[in-house]
Amino acid sequence: MTKWVYTFGDGAAEGRAGDRNLLGGKGANLAEMCSLGLPVPPGFTITTEACTWYYENGKTYPASLEADVAAALDHVAALTGRRFGDSANLLLVSVRSGARASMPGMLDTVLNLGLNDGTVEALAAESGDARFAYDSYRRFIQMYCDVVLGLDHEIFEEILEDRKASLGRDLDTELTAAEWQAVIGLYKARIEEELGRPFPQDPQEQLWGAIGAVFSSWMNQRAITYRRLHDIPASWGTAVNIQAMVFGNMGETSATGVAFTRNPSTGEKALYGEFLVNAQGEDVVAGIRTPQNITEAARVAAGSDKPSMQKLMPDAFGAFVDISRKLETHYRDMQDLEFTIERGKLWMLQTRSGKRTAKAALKIAVDMANEGLISKEEAVTRIDPASLDQLLHPTIDPKAERNVIGMGLPASPGAATGEIVFSSDEAEEARSVGRKVILVRVETSPEDIHGMHAAEGILTTRGGMTSHAAVVARGMGKPCVSGAGSLRVDQRNGTLMAMGMTLKKGDVVTIDGGNGQVLKGAVPMLQPELSGDFAAIMEWADAARRMKVRTNAETPADARMARSFGAEGIGLCRTEHMFFDGDRIVAMREMILAETEEGRRRALAKLLPMQRSDFLELFEIMAGLPVTIRLLDPPLHEFLPKTEEEIAEVAASMDVSAEKLRRRTEALHEFNPMLGHRGCRLAVSYPEIAEMQARAIFEAAVEAGRKAGKLVVPEIMVPLVGIVKELDYVKARIDAVAKAVMEEAGVEMDYLTGTMIELPRAAIRAQTIAETAEFFSFGTNDLTQTTFGISRDDASSFLETYRQKGIIDQDPFVSLDIEGVGELVRMAAEKGRKTRPEIKLGICGEHGGDPASISFCEEVGLDYVSCSPFRVPIARLAAAQAAIRKD
Ligand code: PEP
Ligand code: MG
Repeated sequence: MTKWVYTFGDGAAEGRAGDRNLLGGKGANLAEMCSLGLPVPPGFTITTEACTWYYENGKTYPASLEADVAAALDHVAALTGRRFGDSANLLLVSVRSGARASMPGMLDTVLNLGLNDGTVEALAAESGDARFAYDSYRRFIQMYCDVVLGLDHEIFEEILEDRKASLGRDLDTELTAAEWQAVIGLYKARIEEELGRPFPQDPQEQLWGAIGAVFSSWMNQRAITYRRLHDIPASWGTAVNIQAMVFGNMGETSATGVAFTRNPSTGEKALYGEFLVNAQGEDVVAGIRTPQNITEAARVAAGSDKPSMQKLMPDAFGAFVDISRKLETHYRDMQDLEFTIERGKLWMLQTRSGKRTAKAALKIAVDMANEGLISKEEAVTRIDPASLDQLLHPTIDPKAERNVIGMGLPASPGAATGEIVFSSDEAEEARSVGRKVILVRVETSPEDIHGMHAAEGILTTRGGMTSHAAVVARGMGKPCVSGAGSLRVDQRNGTLMAMGMTLKKGDVVTIDGGNGQVLKGAVPMLQPELSGDFAAIMEWADAARRMKVRTNAETPADARMARSFGAEGIGLCRTEHMFFDGDRIVAMREMILAETEEGRRRALAKLLPMQRSDFLELFEIMAGLPVTIRLLDPPLHEFLPKTEEEIAEVAASMDVSAEKLRRRTEALHEFNPMLGHRGCRLAVSYPEIAEMQARAIFEAAVEAGRKAGKLVVPEIMVPLVGIVKELDYVKARIDAVAKAVMEEAGVEMDYLTGTMIELPRAAIRAQTIAETAEFFSFGTNDLTQTTFGISRDDASSFLETYRQKGIIDQDPFVSLDIEGVGELVRMAAEKGRKTRPEIKLGICGEHGGDPASISFCEEVGLDYVSCSPFRVPIARLAAAQAAIRKD
């Protein structure tokens, strides 16, 4: 027979902490605390399975449940010497929900259940405090009506406020017993009016009403939404915890409070919490009275003149300190505790792992490892890699007020404040005179690189998580909110419409790239700190991980930044990003628009020295670490001159007419440039481009090698290969250039030629491609785009709808679609290794910085992940956790 009810109390329990799935988090921990001999009011837990049964059987209860609950109440009666519903020896209970994972939105708590017009008299007599008894009764009526009977608590607030006003009282605590009695009379009349029946007086009816309400709350809209957002299956169900009441509102020697065993915002090892004298649980959260500090030290630090619990109730405080230590040691983690003191006696009502800030998480994990409470590896697993984002960038002070005027995607973390500007030139101008700006665009293009560099942050109204703005901003470590669709940019008039407001150039906004918010005005920020605990966790993570972590970088600034974050080389240098600066774009346009090979070669000759010096600098910064340089990849139209002014400039430099140039521009137009003339197709059409780039790479490598006194081994990567012969063709050019440069320089040099795997065909043909390729780097941005047949630039609008409708769980451009795209990665890795067992395998799509995707990379045995500089620490930690999990 299924056991539906588990009892606990008086040093014994039928459940344990490990029974979380069955008893819910709260129930399992109450049982555990009982077993540890801690003072927990006796009670019992109705299992999550009963909840599941309830829903599977038309919202009815299992046949034996009523008898089981009655038996459990008898058990509580035996331990307390009190009986539920018995005026002579009154037992009141609390009813609380408790799912496996803590779930806001669920029915929370009903206290003082079992009170009615008769038992309230008994409570008054027994406690010798009629005021307390009636106060408890009215609280029960309010809570029960709110959560079980579905009456708005406002109606009770109104009655109470009216009453207080007519009595001339400010505080609830000033009401006398008789006055509460009168309030209760008004409450009951109103309930009858609202519901057409009186407030239930039968304790059994009250109890089953509350149990039903807990189960029902599992399916309320808030709970459903929360589950969807946090991937919690509906099948888990919630448990119900029913416990003998203890009272924190029995006068001045009673109290109730909440505490953390360590400071949840700084991680400091000091008991941290608040309590209220003569109060019940909800008073602490309700914020009507200001809670008092628990420790004397905290009181002094807060400058409070209200006595601490340490001073006011030294015995209970001493007991609480002991218990909090015991619980932290037992659970080996910082605990979040709830307690009540009834007439000087301490009772524990809850313990669970405490939520904490990223900074506190680091400090607590490092301290606990140093205290010997957990191992270093365990400390590494205690940190959520994604939370490191909070530490690497300035963030908005959590205490700051947020005036949200728009919402987009959290495209690149960190917060930034500045005056809005609408063009990259304006951004650069403003920056040159020391002003801070936010670059606001409908979307960005490669031509905006200088503006993005100059800006503090980037805001776009269109585009997803892998849009140009998002990818480039992440690379630069600049905060970015992309696709803020509710904002309207009027480029011509230089205005931004937000929630009916018109912002002009120069108006100040703040963007929060961590959550996608756009805020009006400047907001106080917190600055990052990368030494101390952060450094310790990183060191332990590095010791635990197998995969290398490289960075995607092309500018010296990014490369240096990535090194300072611990990057072990460059996994992707997107050379096209190097062609937008200053004079280069003119030479680049010249090259693209040239109609003959000779014309192209002329322009390429101008670009060669610039590329060489770029690569030299990267090799020097990376000081012997591997550097993978990718040949030109994007569709050429991205470089084409657009304005008349630009066309005139290029025409002059090429010595042709503007008209001719315009015609050539039109001839280069493509309908689907992303699937068009790009990647290695460019190198096949115009091998001279690849030859120039290869020459720049080899010459830079020779020079860097000479300067450093040791050989540099460049890795040249060919993008968008689908057919091995494409790669063969390009590799032959690369090899010829290598040979020539070696002869000219009189040196021998090693280098690797590899390919990106970005097309399903490349994955399918990986076994053959590996005959030529010495490494594979998975370009999962394009591989996701081409596997799904979804454009990475246009997907954000409907992917969000897909998410809302449950068709996809996550944006596949953010977290790798393991069962689809991942399958291609796995297959290509296996096939590649079959041909070339030593083949080097890495990933350089955006997924290389996503913890879940990194975990998958560990599983398929990639050699490294490569990600934007600010993700490097996240990737180091995620790679370590993946390796630890795999052990
Ligand atoms: C990719 O496609 O995953 C990749 C890294 O290349 P890009 O984003 O430059 O197309
Ligand atoms: Mg690509």
